[in-house]
Amino acid sequence: MRFSHVTVPTLREKPADAETASHELLIRAGMMRPAAAGIYSFLPLGALALARVENIVRDEMNAAGALEVALPTLHPSEPWIQSGRWQAYGPEMMRMKDRQGREFCLGPTAEEVITSIIARSAPSYRDLPINLYQIQTKFRDEIRPRFGLMRGREFRMKDAYSFHTSEEDLDREFKAMYGAYVSIAKRCSLETSVVEAATGLIGGSESSEFMVPSDIGEDVLVHCESCDYGANAEMEKHRPAIKMGEAAAGSLEEVHTPGMTSIEEVAGFMKTAQTSVIKCVLYVSGNEPVAVFVPGYRDVSESKLAMHLGTDDFHPMREDEIERYPDLAVGFVGPVGLDGVKTVFDSELKGVKGVICGANRSDYHLRGVEEERDFNAEPLFDVASVQEGDLCFKCGGALKLSRGIEIGHIFKLGLKYSEPLNAVFSDKSGELKPIIMGTYGIGTSRMLATVVEQHHDEAGIKWPRAVAPLPVEIIVLGTEDAKQVETALKLQADLKDRGLGVLYDDRDLSPGIKFNDADLVGLPLQVVIGKKLASDGTVDVKTRYTGLKSAFEVESAADMITRALDEAP
Ligand SMILES: [Zn+2]
Repeated sequence: MRFSHVTVPTLREKPADAETASHELLIRAGMMRPAAAGIYSFLPLGALALARVENIVRDEMNAAGALEVALPTLHPSEPWIQSGRWQAYGPEMMRMKDRQGREFCLGPTAEEVITSIIARSAPSYRDLPINLYQIQTKFRDEIRPRFGLMRGREFRMKDAYSFHTSEEDLDREFKAMYGAYVSIAKRCSLETSVVEAATGLIGGSESSEFMVPSDIGEDVLVHCESCDYGANAEMEKHRPAIKMGEAAAGSLEEVHTPGMTSIEEVAGFMKTAQTSVIKCVLYVSGNEPVAVFVPGYRDVSESKLAMHLGTDDFHPMREDEIERYPDLAVGFVGPVGLDGVKTVFDSELKGVKGVICGANRSDYHLRGVEEERDFNAEPLFDVASVQEGDLCFKCGGALKLSRGIEIGHIFKLGLKYSEPLNAVFSDKSGELKPIIMGTYGIGTSRMLATVVEQHHDEAGIKWPRAVAPLPVEIIVLGTEDAKQVETALKLQADLKDRGLGVLYDDRDLSPGIKFNDADLVGLPLQVVIGKKLASDGTVDVKTRYTGLKSAFEVESAADMITRALDEAP
């Protein structure tokens, strides 16, 4: 492949909207171009790299016994209505109507489509288990697409669906997929950690996420320093390190706290710690207010709240909504004597004594508050977010927080889709039973971006060999020098015979520009053919990953390059 302004349109400037290394470098290295917000075209080198990643995924899925299928991207609404997700997906689903007015969506995932196929085939126990997968474009109308391929509205994904006659068999497949994902990440040179995860809108009983540690990751991960516990903060469990409200129980007293609506102000004014104040956060769900009470030193975890409420259709009460609820003394809401409002209490509030909370009267707080005596903390739920310093619920070790990029997610679905879509199998005695399911996703375009996040430097991308779009770039410095050009073409042909693709830079540009572009594009080896060819019959070879350079005799260059590639990271 020849390096040109069409095939590899490199850019010197960073794109204005690029906030992450992968977003910036994939565009500057001429691998992709935006078509609209969160939608990208892959150019030749980008398409090659994506194909390398997807072939590793395909290889490991096939090795694990899964079978590849190709499902439609355009889905009819019927199975989605049957599963209940036509509603539940909300505005993130890309919807449309055909000319007859029938409703369709661009698939964000394919449980409904594939479960319908299995349901219609009416399998017997002999036909199961089966695991079907595809690698395909998916759609999600993100409210805020960002970070390039990390959070797009159109993205590539491998999605697999398994069908079983028993829970034990689903367990076996879940473990097999876990193993396949570990291999995939390793072959793509990605360090991952696996954490317990929330099942969200997909539903199901158990799930694990494959996370790549990264400061730009949108997920917060919790790890125990003493045992193997690791979870997504969306659903982690912890034990607080501090006991809240241990002060001696006093009598209830109303205190004038004019304009003090923050925990800091109230604690400061009362000369006490934030651990002695109950925080109230008001939400609106289905037009009804919900008062969520957590310890003053913590925040509400909205993902845990969603699990408790059974919906993610809620939001923090907005300024313009406050007047709709005149009975609420917003800023001064507390659990004592609060009537007619849905409440949720964090488990840490059970049994607190001598604490402070809003008095449900503007500009007043209560102190000396005691749970049970003054209010009942019900319903009680783990709804507060984790903090650095909290303790592991398993072993009491210290919990550490970090950020990660989710590249894969595996779920045990159970009967979540087979029941509504009536996917049954006949068992040995001919009895019909619902099929037990699992689902396994990997974002392949996101994984490509994650590889760049993990493997780059100031100058550009440093492709690990396994996912590099091509293994070698040949740079000819003297484009007018017939001998140099001839040597380059011969070397390209020799490498091609060995199955090694070449990016050939014969552009009539300064060596500096060509070297910079080669580092930006980041292929594993750079072969430089210049004046040394005439003086001592050698070409220079640079390993992009390490920056190490060697001079090879031109006669043995193809052999030496093949060997150097074997050793390249
Ligand atoms: Zn632990």
